[in-house]
Amino acid sequence: MRVKTDNLDARTDLAVHGVRWDAPVRRSKGAGPSDDGHLVVDGANAALPLNPDSPYTLRDGRVYKGRIDLGLTVEPVSRPKFYDLTTADGVPYRKIALLHGRDVLATTVVQTCIRYAEDQRCRFCTIEESLKAGDTVAAKTPAQLAEVAEAAVRLDGVRQMVMTTGTTAGPDRGARHLVRCVKAVLDAVPGLPVQVQIEPPGELSVIADLRAVGATSIGIHVESLDDEVRRRWMPGKGSVPLAEYEAAWDEAVRVFGRNKVSTYLLIGLGEDPDELVDGAARLIERGVYPFVVPMRPMAGTLARRDGVPGPRASLVRDVSERVAKLLREADMRGADQEAGCAACGACGVLSAAGA
Ligand code: SF4
Repeated sequence: MRVKTDNLDARTDLAVHGVRWDAPVRRSKGAGPSDDGHLVVDGANAALPLNPDSPYTLRDGRVYKGRIDLGLTVEPVSRPKFYDLTTADGVPYRKIALLHGRDVLATTVVQTCIRYAEDQRCRFCTIEESLKAGDTVAAKTPAQLAEVAEAAVRLDGVRQMVMTTGTTAGPDRGARHLVRCVKAVLDAVPGLPVQVQIEPPGELSVIADLRAVGATSIGIHVESLDDEVRRRWMPGKGSVPLAEYEAAWDEAVRVFGRNKVSTYLLIGLGEDPDELVDGAARLIERGVYPFVVPMRPMAGTLARRDGVPGPRASLVRDVSERVAKLLREADMRGADQEAGCAACGACGVLSAAGA
């Protein structure tokens, strides 16, 4: 039976409840949202949690809830050819970078984090779990990343790259290594849009260095603007004062430009939704794109261990719709960032909501 659905309702439900599906391209653990399968829903990238208890299944290029066809087309992302290759120094490419959606290459250049002790780590993060599972290597060299990026563009039509990093102990918090990585990748693949993701660095000058080597856009991810929520969910990272984020965002907007800077805001950390939307409005005024996404209590997180549920789909829809409206009014579209999570959009529903 086919029913006409509200597309945004269905997309939100899928983002929260995921799908029952054996995905050919998936991430099991790692930095950021993961434990998901990658597909294209109604023409847009979608990274959906793989959930054996989900009411949603995929069949014949459609999404079903039980026997009901929701009226959404779906296309699985195929396993890319570059996954079968190995670097000159003997590391499978798949351990260096992964395909996200149909055309995003993503890597965590340093897979460890100084904040990963149990009493410090972000309760939604599993950055070191993929390392423990042997799915990746602790540090990727600029040469390895250049080799993999060149192949992924040539063989699999990758159109943008995201480089994130675990926080390191130096004052740059990992940003200097990203400078070397971006330079090597762009020497190998000139013109590839690359987004870098960093914590506010102690030395703000590294932001200009990232731009100077050719990064297109930058994510400086705060996850919440509520200090009480930050202390509860991110004891380590939450100790960085919001003033440091504000200084880093402002410098990034100065160097990269308006709407080339983004931050994650997570829905489902217990923050008042009106305050979350007000905070998003303040970010937009600064020129920073607030990428609002549902918190995923993925396997391996402290949230999952402690039985914390993900947010209700109705809350995700409400916040995403309100933030999408603010973004449209400010003429800030994720796609205009060219590279990065806001440009990809797969982990949230902002693009389905028109931003
Ligand atoms: S939104 Fe970001 S983390 Fe999610 S699939 Fe896209 S690039 Fe990857």
